Amino acid sequence: MKTILVIAEHRRNELRLVTLELISAAHALKSAADYKVVVAVIGSQADSFVSALSVNGVDEIVVVKTPVADFDPDIFETAVATLIESRKPAAVLLPHTVDSLGYAATLASNGGYGFATDVFMVEYQDSQLVATRGGYNQKVNVEVDFPGKEIVVLTVRPSVFKPLEGVSSPAVSNFDLPSVASRSQNKEFIELGGGNDIDITTVDFIMSIGRGIGEETNVEQFRELAETAGATLCCSRPIADAGWLPKSRQVGQSGKVVGSCKLYVAMGISGSIQHMAGMKHVPTIVAVNTDPNASIFTIAKFGIVADIFDIEEELNSQLAA
Ligand SMILES: Cc1cc2nc3c(=O)[nH]c(=O)nc-3n(C[C@H](O)[C@H](O)[C@H](O)COP(=O)(O)OP(=O)(O)OC[C@H]3O[C@@H](n4cnc5c(N)ncnc54)[C@H](O)[C@@H]3O)c2cc1C
Repeated sequence: MKTILVIAEHRRNELRLVTLELISAAHALKSAADYKVVVAVIGSQADSFVSALSVNGVDEIVVVKTPVADFDPDIFETAVATLIESRKPAAVLLPHTVDSLGYAATLASNGGYGFATDVFMVEYQDSQLVATRGGYNQKVNVEVDFPGKEIVVLTVRPSVFKPLEGVSSPAVSNFDLPSVASRSQNKEFIELGGGNDIDITTVDFIMSIGRGIGEETNVEQFRELAETAGATLCCSRPIADAGWLPKSRQVGQSGKVVGSCKLYVAMGISGSIQHMAGMKHVPTIVAVNTDPNASIFTIAKFGIVADIFDIEEELNSQLAA
């Protein structure tokens, strides 16, 4: 029986939710063909995750003990490459997160595997693996197939697949890591600003401010508006870089992907590729911008060409009524 290999992600002794999402994606593939889902967990305390990984959809857990507790791209690359060599999986699912971005491309290139990133749908079509990702600045969905590739590595977008419910009793095995010359050394873990802040990946209504707000002194009135409307105030990168809001509120490529958000109101945000990477999937996007050609309007469900301060005043008076 062939295998779909999922690589678990954990940080600071906690399994990350995206791992359960990948198991769900793998399980969907498994039902289309006769595959077993194997989850590999890599780290010095890898065996401590066995219980958290014993969930529906998992057939086997492979524990790969490493000398270091934290993520290390060289160690992960070697561990996953060796596992692939040994198990010959049809597909390897990694989270599309900063950890995987540190080694996924090298892994695929060195192994000559099929490769696609930021995948949000994966299925078998006529026995061929097909992955769907965005293209042309997320304006179209692109189906990628991998002719002639026996093994395909995919980084899967977080917050797309819903974790399966229920527990299971998968087989557990150990896998020996060959010696690895790591080029980095973890010295200290530093939580980005706002460590105790709300997790914006879990909220469903966001009001986000961009450079259009002009001055730091204007932040407060949008904070009050967001609070009155029941939204979480977030921002584009220049606002976080300026320290006007904590980094934990930054949406985008180098910020956060707002996975659970249902309604996103973008105030004075132009819609750079990097910002849209964090919110373009939101079902209802409302954008307010004075520039009718702002890119944000290409993904907005409702676009308002107006001054954000006029809209803020109007919304305040409507909400007060
Ligand atoms: C590697 C890398 C990673 C990055 N990661 C991120 C990221 O995670 N998140 C992110 O956001 N950016 C990120 N960026 C930065 C990104 O490229 C843009 O510079 C940034 O998103 C622009 O922010 P903005 O839309 O607020 O500002 P601008 O692009 O300056 O847009 C401001 C908008 O406000 C409008 N405006 C001005 N005044 C008003 C008004 N009174 N009323 C209404 N509209 C008004 C303007 O028309 C304009 O469209 C990254 C860049 C790089 C290179």
